[in-house]
Amino acid sequence: MTAPRLEIDLDAITSNARALVDRLAGRGIRVTAVTKAALADPAVAAALLRGGASGLGDSRVENLARLRAAGLDAPLTLIRSPMLSQAEEVVRTADISLNTEPRILDALSTAAREQGRRHGVILMVELGDLREGVAAEEVVELALTVSKRDGLWLAGLGTNLACQNGVVPDQTKMAELSRLVEQLEAAAGERLSVVSGGNSANLDWVFSSADVGRIDELRLGESILLGTEPLRRRPIDGLRTDAFTLVAEVIEAGLKPAQPWGERGQAAFGRPVARRGTGLIRQAILAIGRQDTDPDGLTPPPGVEILGMSSDHLVVDLGDQDAAAGDELRFGVDYSALVRAMTSPYVARSLSSPDL
Ligand SMILES: *Cc1c(COP(=O)(O)O)cnc(C)c1O
Repeated sequence: MTAPRLEIDLDAITSNARALVDRLAGRGIRVTAVTKAALADPAVAAALLRGGASGLGDSRVENLARLRAAGLDAPLTLIRSPMLSQAEEVVRTADISLNTEPRILDALSTAAREQGRRHGVILMVELGDLREGVAAEEVVELALTVSKRDGLWLAGLGTNLACQNGVVPDQTKMAELSRLVEQLEAAAGERLSVVSGGNSANLDWVFSSADVGRIDELRLGESILLGTEPLRRRPIDGLRTDAFTLVAEVIEAGLKPAQPWGERGQAAFGRPVARRGTGLIRQAILAIGRQDTDPDGLTPPPGVEILGMSSDHLVVDLGDQDAAAGDELRFGVDYSALVRAMTSPYVARSLSSPDL
């Protein structure tokens, strides 16, 4: 089989989506499944929808176009603020986008009018993580101007925490979002359709909160795809963490000294990690590199240790394992390793149920 490759277990993805959708439904929260870490692969998206996701979100309009072209029947949300230069594609492709800039709303409105469409807008509120968001003091005023623009309707408010500075979505932050929603609804005289509370980092809060307030939607990627929560990268109870496996092929294996010899400077990617031990080790080289994945995000098979990775080579200490050129080793991936592997043109994908 082709190597390196990502093996994708679609049933694991469906089962994770179903588990989270069901648990969140109990709290009145829908799931927009985020496809960006899977490069919006239509088979993965279909698995997410089979698991009960009520819509799909992606940060790239090109990815949403891929989902559209695959004919998936679900509302599509662009979860990164649109580029001004892509306003037309955004309106053509996405039903809703997350926004913060009046200038971009103007461009979306022009595009919507020209295309004879209505485009939904969720305004993002800054609650302290300092990535996207309108200041809390200004968001109601801006929100009231959205539907004054031809072709746009105000779908709701949202926020995003944790991604940039690790700020935790807690009861105080979420109560603040609910308070803004109520203030806006009082001023607008109508109810918002979406209150998008955040991403996978919100799950701890949801399941421990006595009152989720007005939050009625989360945008979930990592938790469904990898079964982990991003604040501490712990596995989530009852979810599968093996939906994605990165398989690489051994191109050299044998006994090598534990320690390099000769005068030493920098390695290809800066200072090499010190090798431990003395004598000989069973070393293997695999044909996969930093162009394909993130070495810090790989979980090697039990007993195998990663010694280093350059652009095209992964070097491991096989420990007691035996491996020869041509053999394959299987690695677990974290979010960073997954994103890199999905976007590498050198990594093939193999789906567990390709006919779906
Ligand atoms: C990536 C992203 C998400 C999904 O985050 P996960 O941690 O993968 O659940 C949600 N919202 C926004 C705005 C994002 O950029």
